[in-house]
Amino acid sequence: MSDREPGVPERAQPASSPPPGPAEPPAPVSAMSIHAHPDDQEFTVGGTLAKWARAGTHVVTVCITSGGAGSNEYTPKDMTRERLVVLREEEQRNACRVLGIHEVIFLGYEDGVLEPSIALRRELTRLIRRHRPAAVVCGDPTVRFYGQRYMNHPDHRAAADVALDAVFPSAETRLIFPELLDEGLEPHHVRRVYLHGATTPDTWVDIAEVLDVKLRALKEHRTQMGEWDPSEMITAWSAEQGAARGLTAAEAYRLMILGEDD
Ligand SMILES: [Zn+2]
Repeated sequence: MSDREPGVPERAQPASSPPPGPAEPPAPVSAMSIHAHPDDQEFTVGGTLAKWARAGTHVVTVCITSGGAGSNEYTPKDMTRERLVVLREEEQRNACRVLGIHEVIFLGYEDGVLEPSIALRRELTRLIRRHRPAAVVCGDPTVRFYGQRYMNHPDHRAAADVALDAVFPSAETRLIFPELLDEGLEPHHVRRVYLHGATTPDTWVDIAEVLDVKLRALKEHRTQMGEWDPSEMITAWSAEQGAARGLTAAEAYRLMILGEDD
């Protein structure tokens, strides 16, 4: 007689262990994390970046807006965009410091109305050529809906779209944005792109050892959190993402492999 009893989940064995996926990719030598708002990075990829930074990856964070629109829940009614921008940039720098990232670049675009413009593509291309990251980390611009409760923010889609277009073909093609050559910026070929928030991820980074660092970094965004403690939600997300690979905490990606590491 089988000791499995259908209908009694707590006695059932898992049908099979998670399929053996590809091994977690090694930390890249250098990475550029590109996001629309202060806190996007900490919500989504903070664990990965903390883990990589500990492994010696040089990480540069690019924040396209400075989050001047805030949040309805936690931004005081008498707050102005100008004052909020100063606070949020400081929070982003503090969060990066917690993750082990020492270089943060703000492009100063307006929060809430970001467009996938050629001007922004040129700016991101310039930064990729200047910093020459082996890997770029950004969102997935193709995802419009997450479940039934969240429609992806238009700034997130625009930021991710432009980041990808800057990686390919702009950063690696000599005669796209030839004015960058005049600035001494030679083409650069990014080897890997990690897209978070993809509906069908294929790569998982185990963040169990740095989950506490991710939570501490996220909490630096005080103007966005108020009294709310994001720990429970983030821990649940990490467990959900890790479940597919039998990990207790993970960040999941669609990985584009555009070349081999040096
Ligand atoms: Zn955001």
